[in-house]
Amino acid sequence: MKKGNSESKEGSQASSINQQGRLGDAEFVANLSHELRTPLNAIVGFSQLLNQQLSHLPDQQESVQMIEQAGRHLWELIDQLIDLVKIEGGVSSITMESIDVYQLLKDCIALITIVAKEKKIEIFFTPYSEPIYAKADHLRLRQVILNLLSNAVKYNVEGGEVHVAASMLEGNITISIVDSGIGIEKSQQEKVFQPFQRLGAQFSDIEGTGLGLSICKELIELMQGEIGFTSQEFEGSRFFLKLRPADIEVRDKGKIKRIQTPVPSNNPLIKVNLKLLYIEDNPTNIRFMRLLLQQFTGLELIVANTGKEGLAQARQFRPDIIFLDMRLPDMHGLEVLEKLAEDASHSAKVYAVTADALPGQIEVAMHAGIDGYFTKPIDIKRLQKLLVA
Ligand code: ADP
Repeated sequence: MKKGNSESKEGSQASSINQQGRLGDAEFVANLSHELRTPLNAIVGFSQLLNQQLSHLPDQQESVQMIEQAGRHLWELIDQLIDLVKIEGGVSSITMESIDVYQLLKDCIALITIVAKEKKIEIFFTPYSEPIYAKADHLRLRQVILNLLSNAVKYNVEGGEVHVAASMLEGNITISIVDSGIGIEKSQQEKVFQPFQRLGAQFSDIEGTGLGLSICKELIELMQGEIGFTSQEFEGSRFFLKLRPADIEVRDKGKIKRIQTPVPSNNPLIKVNLKLLYIEDNPTNIRFMRLLLQQFTGLELIVANTGKEGLAQARQFRPDIIFLDMRLPDMHGLEVLEKLAEDASHSAKVYAVTADALPGQIEVAMHAGIDGYFTKPIDIKRLQKLLVA
């Protein structure tokens, strides 16, 4: 039936809301991400804690591990869905820069090698005879390469191989990732870049969401590149990227130094000597933190429920570390950070502990001088490491 006037008007209004705001709106995406992560933080957080406490009850421990695993799957799904919504809504911005392809591939391979070793998969890398610089967004290209490498390992066989190569042909840069894995059946190949298509992998124990490659395709197209593949079932696949070369060469971003600190054992009572102020209004998060910190002796914890109270406690209590929620009832975490910096005697390290997990939000906080950023669901091992460092 043909739509009436008023209906089509509403329809066009709805689509204009979509274009102007809602799904295409940065604030909406930020709120969506925050709201989804907050309950997930409780699920993954408490199951991690229970897992550590239930080593004497293997059956219960196994159930808790399954809750944690399901929570983590949901976490990955949320991350990827939010990413897709951001890209499709035009919220995600791409910064085209000059990228040293050799260095980027080397870094990505180093990250994947750990997982590959577990499956006895060997990764070989053939760089091009001369340096290659691509015009692309560094973070996003890294994300795409890691996704392709991770698939080449995930869908491989034990003892298999992955061959990575970069080359320059007719003014185009080609990166190829070839695996000796299970391959993709011919009839399934047209669905590879469609969201939520796992092409049978959903019946295996290989973890995934079916969203990675659809995100990769969107991202590579935003960078004016091309992504494709060829595959032979039971023999393996070759995924490739075609990128534009950069106009200017050499890009030196400086190296990020990573310091290895010992991982605390699962045994309770780790000795530290710390004063910690936690500025947070959500009772579940506070309960979670209290339980987590029970593993430490010599740790003094003070909780403040508002920004104002937090600032007063910081002055009076002189903590070594402040954990700061970013969405406090009376002010934003960044405002607390700014006010703390005005106090000349303040010397605490300040870490955001928040469900605001979008790269832009993290970047703003880092720029504002925060010492570190924990997104929810909190990785408790990372947090424990920080306290024993
Ligand atoms: P997933 O999270 O399921 O890995 P992707 O979007 O990355 O999602 O990939 C979609 C599907 O394509 C996978 O579920 C898998 O069936 C198939 N696939 C992707 N890469 C490979 C590969 N290298 N070899 C075989 N199959 C692959």
